[in-house]
Amino acid sequence: MTSHVMNTYGRLPFALSHGRGCRVWDTDGRQYLDGLGGIAVNTLGHGHPKLVPALQDQVAKLIHCSNYYAAPMQETLAAKLCELSGLDAVFFCSTGLEANEGALKIARKFGHDKGIERPEIIVYEKAFHGRSIATLSATGNPKVQAGFGPLVEGFVRVPLNDLEAVREVARTNPNVVAVFLETVQGEGGINPTRIDILQGLRTICDQQDWLLMLDEVQCGIGRTGKWFAHQWAGILPDVMPLAKGLGSGVPIGAIVAGPRAATVLQPGNHGTTFGGNPLAMRAGIETLRIMEEDGVMANAAAVGARLHAGLAEGLGGVAGLVEIRGQGLMVGIELDRPCGVLLGQAADAGLLISVTADSVIRLVPPLILTAAEADEMVAILVPLIRAFLATP
Ligand SMILES: *Cc1c(COP(=O)(O)O)cnc(C)c1O
Repeated sequence: MTSHVMNTYGRLPFALSHGRGCRVWDTDGRQYLDGLGGIAVNTLGHGHPKLVPALQDQVAKLIHCSNYYAAPMQETLAAKLCELSGLDAVFFCSTGLEANEGALKIARKFGHDKGIERPEIIVYEKAFHGRSIATLSATGNPKVQAGFGPLVEGFVRVPLNDLEAVREVARTNPNVVAVFLETVQGEGGINPTRIDILQGLRTICDQQDWLLMLDEVQCGIGRTGKWFAHQWAGILPDVMPLAKGLGSGVPIGAIVAGPRAATVLQPGNHGTTFGGNPLAMRAGIETLRIMEEDGVMANAAAVGARLHAGLAEGLGGVAGLVEIRGQGLMVGIELDRPCGVLLGQAADAGLLISVTADSVIRLVPPLILTAAEADEMVAILVPLIRAFLATP
């Protein structure tokens, strides 16, 4: 049979039909434990008994109108995101790259507003910010960029966790207006920015009058055990793009901005048709409400620590294991060789995972994962990884 879907993904040969909690079933009735959560999207798992009726209610009332009209639900969700982050204002969109694209526009206009005609933005090696032309240019993965040149200019790239490299740019490049990075790199292999580095970046950005822009599209919304991963460092960013987990599966993105960035965009500067629509807003409002009501973030911290410890115990001392990284329910297991084959093997064993950066097994399950499910994940994954590494 010829497919009429563009061939842009390597897909496993089964289709998922429905889910409940952290379990999903395929169209042949096979059950899987969901270690992927739709890539850090399904915060509340599948078929959540509080989220489903709320979304059903909203679908029946109003799915979409337009930003031509007053938007009380945008006000509600924006106020909540500002309360949780300590920032000031939000622009709503529909995806991660769209949030990042808007952040890049804020940085450039912030520069133009202070007389810098060719603003440049510091970005990072191994970064992933999306697949639009601007965000793939900011991305630090040659595979994502290959074939799509000419890239957007105005980016200066530095290595992760290297403050001196940023200071060097500050000394030599008067056009820089912002530093843009993931607090914890996701696609790049679950690479956390160190707490002292985040604090150092905050200081440099204050000294230089640069915007600190933290892409929390993957690591935000409770995933690491705090609402936002940078909160472990006790700092505030100037701009924070969000998306993935914010709507528990309903497409939504947001740019959250602090006082130095909140008023950069003015009427006519930016917009998007779907952004802030009532269905997406309801999904965001209910996701955050349910997370608070049910202590979901504390669960992510506790069950994440248990998962991490279980993996460390099961894989400790195994030749070929490089490192287990991450925090909360954002865990990366780096092996010393490409391990994409584990994707299918794990699925055959009843577990959905991802492999990123060729050799890093990534676990980003729903944040409602139970301790028993974490143990089950370890019990499936450890023997698979051991057997894989034992094969020459
Ligand atoms: C997934 C991701 C994006 C892109 O989000 P899309 O919704 O796929 O456009 C951007 N930044 C980070 C850190 C991501 O993990």
